[in-house]
Amino acid sequence: MGKIYKIGIIKGDGIGPEIVDEAINVLDATASKFGFEIQYEEFLLGGAAIDETGIPLPPETIAGVKRQDAVLFGAIGGPKWDNLERHLRPESGLLGLRKEMGTFANLRPAIVYDELVNASTLKENVVSGVDIMVVRELTGGIYFGEPREYGQDKAYNTMVYTRDEIKRIAKVAFDIAMKRDKRVCSVDKANVLEVSQLWREVVEEVAQDYTEVELTHMYVDNAAMQLIRNPKQFDVMVTGNIFGDILSDAASMLSGSIGLLPSASTGSKVGLYEPIHGSAPDIAGQGIANPIATIASAAMMLRYELNEEEAANSIEDAIKKALSDGYRTGDISAFDAKEIVSCSEMGSIIANNISKS
Ligand code: NAD
Repeated sequence: MGKIYKIGIIKGDGIGPEIVDEAINVLDATASKFGFEIQYEEFLLGGAAIDETGIPLPPETIAGVKRQDAVLFGAIGGPKWDNLERHLRPESGLLGLRKEMGTFANLRPAIVYDELVNASTLKENVVSGVDIMVVRELTGGIYFGEPREYGQDKAYNTMVYTRDEIKRIAKVAFDIAMKRDKRVCSVDKANVLEVSQLWREVVEEVAQDYTEVELTHMYVDNAAMQLIRNPKQFDVMVTGNIFGDILSDAASMLSGSIGLLPSASTGSKVGLYEPIHGSAPDIAGQGIANPIATIASAAMMLRYELNEEEAANSIEDAIKKALSDGYRTGDISAFDAKEIVSCSEMGSIIANNISKS
């Protein structure tokens, strides 16, 4: 009898259910191939939770996810819930869930697949071979800082970081760099913000425990520019919540489609694994969403949370094979497509690649 893993499933809104269903198909194929069992338990979040319970983050979800080994999540949000008060909107449910789970480190790889090098809006020689890991602090900074207030004539938020919060995210970044190219670029705005001044000091301190890792610092405005100018200069980038939110979306476009990139939110007992994109209400229900980002998130879950490295690799190889065989969902159909496939077809192709490998 192989191992049994408990995986929480949060499908969410928009394309969430479609893409998560495909990731489950792929996980099932991986489980039978590698001899482990996955038990799934589903939870509500975001708009789906509002419709059912009146609030975006029901207490059953908070309690339930903590019983899991890991959680796989689709996306939340949509115009239907946009006019609700801020604390009742889907997005506040997700922010609250991340806070409750204590997943303070968001790992967002930006990888350019060889087969899709033409999908990028940037030139091939700029993007080919890009492999960046953006490590974003996820539970602090301006999204959570107090005081905050909205007024019709004046509104404000507060960007706050404690020494401990900076230290623990810096450690995550250096640990990852040790398994990669041993280079960390810390991104801040230390020329203007006091909170960044502390950020820089603490990152420098942590670096002293990682003498093999080369540390550089970059202001966030320059980092945005450098990501477009010469992305290959980066290995691991570590930054705060709002800077990381923006930079990782910019980095995602190096690969050509937001539908390709996974993410992991870790640092606590139970990690949250999700695509970096949103619920894409414009294409929801049409069966044309790209499930690859969510499937690749499941691979990260196997690697970082369940220690199933071989199974994680097999998913990533199966994705590459689907792409090199010319299968494309609509968002990437312009790039050397041999056949344009639906969301569920792409999921089945990847699952079959695993079973056949
Ligand atoms: P989005 O990421 O949902 O969509 C941006 C564009 O990318 C759209 O044109 C969409 O069709 C396309 N796209 C996204 N994922 C795709 C996929 N897998 N396959 C093919 N195309 C894809 O961002 P948005 O439009 O700014 O936001 C829509 C909703 O999602 C909003 O309610 C927003 O708050 C929410 N949102 C949720 C999350 C999350 O759940 N983590 C993240 C970002 C945005």
